[in-house]
Amino acid sequence: MKRAEDLEVGGRTVLVRADLNVPMEDTGGSRAVGSGGSPPGQESAPPGQHRIADDGRIRASLPTIRDLLAREAAVIVCAHFGRPKGDDYAARAAGGPSLRPVADRLAELLGRPVTLASDVAGESARVIASTMAAGEVALLENVRFEPAETSKDDQVRGELAGRLAALADVYVGDGFGAMHRKHASVYDTPLLLPHAAGQLVLAEVGVLRQLTSSPAQPYVVVLGGAKVSDKLAVIGNLVGKADRLLIAGGMAYTFLAAQGHQVGGSILQADQIPQVTTALADADKAGVEVVLPVDHVVADRFAADAEPEVVHGPDIPDGKMGLDIGPATSDLFRRKLSDAKTVFWNGPPGVFEFPAFAAGTLAVAEAISHVTGLTVVGGGDSAAAVRHLNLPAGAFTHISTGGGASLEYLEGRELPGLAALEAET
Ligand code: ADP
Ligand code: MG
Repeated sequence: MKRAEDLEVGGRTVLVRADLNVPMEDTGGSRAVGSGGSPPGQESAPPGQHRIADDGRIRASLPTIRDLLAREAAVIVCAHFGRPKGDDYAARAAGGPSLRPVADRLAELLGRPVTLASDVAGESARVIASTMAAGEVALLENVRFEPAETSKDDQVRGELAGRLAALADVYVGDGFGAMHRKHASVYDTPLLLPHAAGQLVLAEVGVLRQLTSSPAQPYVVVLGGAKVSDKLAVIGNLVGKADRLLIAGGMAYTFLAAQGHQVGGSILQADQIPQVTTALADADKAGVEVVLPVDHVVADRFAADAEPEVVHGPDIPDGKMGLDIGPATSDLFRRKLSDAKTVFWNGPPGVFEFPAFAAGTLAVAEAISHVTGLTVVGGGDSAAAVRHLNLPAGAFTHISTGGGASLEYLEGRELPGLAALEAET
């Protein structure tokens, strides 16, 4: 893959596809909404009522943008934000979310103005692109305002890609978190321009490659998060590579149910029980140790002010839902991590957004921070969680900006965005 740092960019206009899909938080409350596991719909709130909860993805995109600016390029950044709804451009643009708060934060962090186009690849973008000077930065509006961005139809995506490519001389792919999407700005546009990978993408791929090719053992994988269906494929691929699989979070209840335990009102994907049963049998056959919660912190409803209660043992009574792993499970996980030489962690072990149910996530994060060896955190919510825990800098080898993208890489799947960057022009 060609590196952006090796491209001749002086005096040229560079289109940088970044991942700026940051979680937003309601200024009136504390529940983070945005890129993570939050229900769609909360993301389209009117601008002004929300602020950026975690600007990690914006910060991660700075090195490439700074390098291009320092080398006298004009930089046009393209990114998606949340999930705009509506059948056509006008409806989506009217409903938002606009990248306005992201443009403002990017300008603050860069220490120079960022011009936000009022459209994606229309009149406003064209005027800005044709009048920009070297060293200037512009941001296109939310690329998902264009329904073509995510179209399954190659021609429909191609038309948008053509308009995006016309804005610039060179394309740099640096939005690692979107690399698993065959979208117009990720896959089709780089094929139309000289292209290269940005520093973030190269760093992410470098670390993930270490995890897939002969990681030091014991290799311990910690999986949590809301849905088991999101993670089954990666479990399939990790069986045979990892030595130990620690399973927590919402997905653990489907595992416990598959083993015949009561899970009360906990989040459960009953339709996934057969696949989970197969995964457990495969792990057993491959000699992979699977560790499930042995106690829980439960409540009678899903709310920040719900009363937390510890339930001993793997079963959860009716009327209660598991919202975090219990103290005995935290101890058990700590022991199972103590001799690890390689750790990959994806998905918070509990509803860390509610302080009363964040202890398990903190315990796991701390245990991993004590591991000497390669420690990688993947996933938007997991990354946001660890950044909020105030662990010392360098507590992890790498905090990936891409949840789905890092999981698909570890599943062994080809990421369309990487494939396009690898293609010859
Ligand atoms: P990531 O973005 O790191 O890949 P996921 O999106 O898979 O993680 O899951 C994150 C979400 O999982 C968080 O919002 C967290 O509140 C939720 N979660 C964790 N444990 C539970 C639980 N026991 N019940 C419901 N949701 C949970
Ligand atoms: Mg998530």
